[in-house]
This record gives sequence, structure tokens and C-alpha cells, in this order.
Amino acid sequence: MTIAKETAELLAKLGVAKEALSGGDLVVRSPVTGEQLAALKQISAADAGKAIDAAHEAFKAWRLVPGPKRGELVRLLGEELRAHKAELGRLVSIEVGKIPSEGLGEVQEMIDICDFAVGLSRQLYGLTIATERPGHRMMETWHPLGVVGVISAFNFPVAVWSWNAALALVCGDSVVWKPSEKTPLTALACEAIFARAVKRFGTDAPANLAPVLIGERGIGEVLVDNPKVALVSATGSTRMGREVGPRLAKRFARAVLELGGNNAGIVCPSADLDMALRAIAFGAMGTAGQRCTTLRRLFVHESVYDQLVPRLKKAYESVSVGNPLETSSLVGPLIDKMAFDGMQKALKEAGEHGGKITGGARVENGHKDAYYVRPALVEMPKQAGPVLEETFAPILYVMKYSDFDQVLDLHNAVGAGLSSSIFTRDLQESERFLSADGSDCGIANVNIGTSGAEIGGAFGGEKETGGGRESGSDAWKAYMRRATNTVNYSKALPLAQGVSFDID
Ligand code: NAD
Repeated sequence: MTIAKETAELLAKLGVAKEALSGGDLVVRSPVTGEQLAALKQISAADAGKAIDAAHEAFKAWRLVPGPKRGELVRLLGEELRAHKAELGRLVSIEVGKIPSEGLGEVQEMIDICDFAVGLSRQLYGLTIATERPGHRMMETWHPLGVVGVISAFNFPVAVWSWNAALALVCGDSVVWKPSEKTPLTALACEAIFARAVKRFGTDAPANLAPVLIGERGIGEVLVDNPKVALVSATGSTRMGREVGPRLAKRFARAVLELGGNNAGIVCPSADLDMALRAIAFGAMGTAGQRCTTLRRLFVHESVYDQLVPRLKKAYESVSVGNPLETSSLVGPLIDKMAFDGMQKALKEAGEHGGKITGGARVENGHKDAYYVRPALVEMPKQAGPVLEETFAPILYVMKYSDFDQVLDLHNAVGAGLSSSIFTRDLQESERFLSADGSDCGIANVNIGTSGAEIGGAFGGEKETGGGRESGSDAWKAYMRRATNTVNYSKALPLAQGVSFDID
């Protein structure tokens, strides 16, 4: 069976109408073989505006449904995802080229955030605050915010929507999603899965609570500029964030920006090298280097460099690269030719800066439009040129260090600030790495790699990564409006700060 045929069958099983898959000009290809899967119709800007209006009406009704009841809808969404995990996971693998365990893992992440959000639906707590005035009570309440716009990247085509949608829905918001133009099929599948949950939930869920808008960046811009969209959660490149951030700021809308990473690891003299080797291999080569948290820079102490780096090179030379659907390969394809060209350009520049390159060549697999590459390990004399930027492909730049203070400075000397890790058994080094003058990233790990976060923690990064936080911890607060309420239950009207304003 061809991948296109399998895709059509999966989509039918998941509940996506056949008519939705043809007759348009948005051509969807599988990076696994390069073959065409569908040609989707794109929504016009005018119709996208109407969809936002309808989602705003849905918000007005949904915000009145009690939080725990909203949680019930998300519980049903989690059940539907459990029931369709195999099909949706497979579709993720087909549309993005992830190995099967990663496709399934992405759906598991959706299930996990649904579970988290169900609990949260009974825990949208505010504070009571000591007031300086007698006979008064001061408190914080959290209210639904409005329409939440989600713009997502190709590499986590479904998990990112669920991180936002599960929280936004229990918070009383509606959600309008503009998925990546490279991965719209998994988005249509999610829309169909959500529709099943809504059907089971019954009439308390308004229509148009979580629509999907198929289109390219222009439709993302509609979300960004529409005053009815209270918050835009945008995941993608720093380039995209530079365009979206100022436009949102211009209309004082909220932004959750989840942008590029240039993540580093430090291997210290006391590191468990076996453990470090495995963590580095997964972090740098997993998902063919197409995770925002992919390990891209590695600093190795000079005392262990010659023990670790030859072993790493061997892993790079031997890791299996190939069709993730038919073989047990660990490294699947790049998303498209643009990604391949970007990788080759970065490698060329690295060579010009004195880098010694292992790997990086195209691996032929009989499909001219599929781009498989052997991951590249580049030993660099110093951190310069392409090392300072994110290239969304499997390139690991390896550098030698001797001094811990200097390596911390180098670690932080890039624009992005997403994820980081240190491999050490030395308490002073590990605590320093996690301290105020340690890693400047939103994620800092000890003895695990930079990628593979769990949903329980807030996810996101600093500096050019955008500063947004999604998923666990108190990330939900971005999806709600905070009100400070002061209630006077006395018979007097004392003013704060002792101000007097007596009228007769
Ligand atoms: P991309 O920036 O090309 O596109 C991302 C999304 O933004 C797409 O849906 C696209 O249509 C939309 N978009 C682009 N320009 C826009 C604009 N001006 N206005 C509105 N929408 C616009 O990114 P990509 O190639 O799909 O994904 C890879 C990038 O995403 C990498 O840089 C990666 O690090 C980053 N990423 C970050 C995170 C995170 O959580 N920090 C997670 C996944 C991916």
C-alpha cells in the first residue's frame, strides 16, 4: 500500500471527510517518500475573520460553563485521544517523518496534558490578600480571557495545539488554530477527534469552540491582527516571532512566543560518559535534529574529550538513517529540500570557520523528493559563524573547554535561550549551572539531555526564544484574565494610604 493510500485510510478512520483532502492548492507531502498526500483548500482571510467571530461567540457562552464541567470536555478529549492514539501517532510519523515511537510519544503528550488540564479545571485558584483597611477583603479572581489563537510549527504538529487547547478550554476560552502549512492533515485529524469529544459532551459546548484554519502564514497574520483574538500562542522560528511579536504588541494583545533554540550541553570531567553519550546521541540526532530542544552545541572538558568524542563520532557514523515507517531506523527524513539546503549551507560555513566535519551527506533512498541525511558532528576550534545560530537539522558542533567560568559564558553567548544541560557528578558544578549565574535558559537539566521535556513543567525559553511558557506549572495563568477585587463589608469608607477626601 502506498503512503498516500494509508493516509487516506487513517484520515477516514479518524473522521476526516474525504472531500476535505482534495481540490485545493495546498499540496501536502510526506517527507518519508516525498509523495503527495493531499491538496487542501485554504481558507480566505475573510472567512478566517468570520471563523474568529464565531469562535468569539463560542467564548461568550463557554466562559459561563463552570470550570470543572469544562474539564469534563477535556477529559473526553483525552479519552478520544487514547482511543485513537495508534492512528494519530502513525499519521504524525507519515506527515513529519518521525520514527513510530516518537509519533506515538507525541500523542501521549497530548493525553498527558489533557489529564493535567482536567485536574487544573478544579484548581484555577486565586489568592486572598491581606488588606490595610478594616472591614475589607481583598482577593484575586481568574476569569476566562477570550479567543486564543494558536499558530504552530511543523515539527510538533499536534502536541503544541494540545498544550494550548487543553489549558485554554478549561480556562473558559475558545481556540482558533492555524497549523503549519507543512502539516495540516494531523490538524484536521485533531479537529475531528475534538468533534467526537464535543458530541459526547452534549449541548453545553457551543459550536465553533475550537476551529482549525487551513492556510499559510497570511492566515496566521489574520489571527495576529484580529482584535477579537485576546492571546496568540505562536510556535516557530525566531524570524516568525520577530514579525508576530511587534504586531501583537501594537494592539496590546497577549503573546506566548515559543521560538527557536540553540541548545547546549556541557560535559564535565566527572561526567558519567556512558550516560552522556546516550543522552547526547538522542538529543542531537533524534527527530533528525528537528526539535526546538535539539542539542546543537556541545562543550567537552579537555580531560575527557579524547574519551568521549571518538565514541560519539562512531555513533554518528553507525546510526541507522532511513524510512521510519518500514525500517527500525533511528533517524528519519528532514521535512523538505529547504531544510536540506539549510543544513548544507551551515556545514559549508562551519568548514570555512575551521570545523572538522563527520557525516552530513545525503543518504539516497530511491525517492528523489525525500531528504535523508547522515547526522553531522562538527569539531569546531571555537564558537563562531553558524554555531551561533539555529540550523533546523541534525548538526552537532563540538568544542573543547578547560575552564568552567569560561564555558558558562560561552554557553550563554548565543541569541536563543531555550534548553540546556550539564553532565557532571560534581555538586558544585551542577548547582552553579542551575543558579542565577549559570545557564540562562528556560530549561536547565542535570545528567539528562536538552530534549524530551515532560508536560508537568512550564515549557519555553528566554531571549530570542521569546519568553513564553506553555504546558504545566502555572502556565495556565496566561490564558486567563486576573481581577483584583476589594470588598468593603464595614459601614465606613476608609481610603487606602490614609488619603482623606471628605465631602459634606
Ligand atoms: P516557521 O517559523 O517557518 O513557521 C511556524 C508557523 O508560523 C507556521 O504555521 C507558519 O505558517 C507561521 N508563520 C510564519 N510567519 C508568520 C507570520 N509572519 N505571521 C503569522 N504566522 C506566521 O517554523 P517551522 O519551520 O514550522 O518550525 C521550526 C521552528 O520552530 C524552529 O525554529 C524551532 O526551533 C521552532 N520551534 C519552537 C518550539 C518552542 O516551543 N520554542 C517548538 C517547536 C518548534
